[in-house]
Amino acid sequence: MEQTFIMIKPDGVQRGLVGEIIGRFEKKGFSLKGLKLLTVDRAFAEKHYADLSAKPFFNGLVEYIISGPVVAMVWEGKGVVTTGRKIIGATNPAESAPGTIRGDYAIDIGRNVIHGSDAVESARKEIALWFPEGIAEWRSSLHSWIYE
Ligand code: ADP
Repeated sequence: MEQTFIMIKPDGVQRGLVGEIIGRFEKKGFSLKGLKLLTVDRAFAEKHYADLSAKPFFNGLVEYIISGPVVAMVWEGKGVVTTGRKIIGATNPAESAPGTIRGDYAIDIGRNVIHGSDAVESARKEIALWFPEGIAEWRSSLHSWIYE
């Protein structure tokens, strides 16, 4: 089953959106496989966003991510990478449709509340980076009510 890495960014934690965000993934039918609240240091944030290191907003992005605790999660389910990105909405909240997390709860691109892996391969790398200790192995007893 496919897995994705989802992170509630410091603004999402500070604004009390953790329960709301988790609820959206839960109610969709995806399974929570990993969950922790932590504050990461600069080196870790730079590693997570290494692909963006040449971007002009990189330093500001790293400052933002290390500015407070984040909630790191692994969610599992059929098509969870692509569907997770749809639930999250476009990178720029101004372009995110209402009904998406960023469309409903964010305004600025640099305070867009949540991260979600953009591909199965990046999800695999991000899960390994954020959960080196591994994740829970369990299967929801609702499985046959969610999948045909
Ligand atoms: P996404 O998070 O939707 O996958 P990107 O990987 O392109 O988007 O960018 C990572 C994060 O960097 C964004 O979620 C956002 O927080 C920040 N970011 C992207 N573009 C900008 C920008 N032009 N100005 C400020 N921050 C940005």
